[in-house]
Formats: sequence, structure tokens, C-alpha cells
Amino acid sequence: MSETVHRGSCNCGAVRIEIEGPLRVFGFCHCTTCRKASGTAFTANSSVRRERVRFLDGEAAIARYESSPGTFRCFCSKCGSPVYKESAAKPGVIRIRLGILDTPVGAKPKAHAFWGERADWYDDPGSMPVYETWAPVLKDEVEE
Ligand SMILES: [Zn+2]
Ligand SMILES: [Zn+2]
Repeated sequence: MSETVHRGSCNCGAVRIEIEGPLRVFGFCHCTTCRKASGTAFTANSSVRRERVRFLDGEAAIARYESSPGTFRCFCSKCGSPVYKESAAKPGVIRIRLGILDTPVGAKPKAHAFWGERADWYDDPGSMPVYETWAPVLKDEVEE
């Protein structure tokens, strides 16, 4: 296990975080709420144990939107950058939005999830497997 420390920040720099340890397997999620929350074709998120995430700045700037019951999309209230998602069902885990990272992720995405809800202008899956809904290969590996 690498002891890599990842750092991320929102677009305006008000929110800055540090993530200890390796990032988990990730893919692209094409579900409707991810598309709307990101404003583009898909999101790339990785699960991290909450205690491995430390705010260097701006925790008070985080705003939360309940996109489905018990699931909160957390974003910078100043610039709107998506930062992470959290779920009442899994309080020990948060889903980091990989686009906020300023340090290399050091891994490649493994699958397309919710391909059945993709934007009609995104048709090329490349070399990654496609799953109409959940991608088993992306199953959350983080222990509770
Ligand atoms: Zn910001
Ligand atoms: Zn999604």
C-alpha cells in the first residue's frame, strides 16, 4: 500500500483537502444525477474513508444538496465545484470527485457505469467495459 498523499482544491481555492493513502478503483458514472451535478457527460469518483480526508481550508464553505434521499452532493458554496458525495447509509465513506485533485491520481478508470443513462452525444466507450447500471468492477471496496 502506497502512503501517497493526494491534495485537491475547488476552482476558487476556498476549499482545500488532503487525502491520505491510495485512491480506490474508479470509473465513469453516466447516471442522470451525476450528469446534472457535473454539467457534463459523466463523473469520476473514488471512495475514501472519511478519516483519511482532512480539510486544509474551507470546510465551512461546503454546501450540501440532497440529490436523492440520504445522499448529499457537497460542493463549494463560493464557486460551485463539486468536491465529494456522502451518504447517510455509509457514514464512514465519502466519494471524492477526482476532478478536484491537484496531484496525480496514479490509476486509470476501469468501467463505464449507468451507460443506459448516458448523454446521447457520448457514444464511444473506448476500451472500457460498459454497464447499463451499476458496474460490479467498481463495487465499493471500502470496508465500513
Ligand atoms: Zn470554491
Ligand atoms: Zn452517478
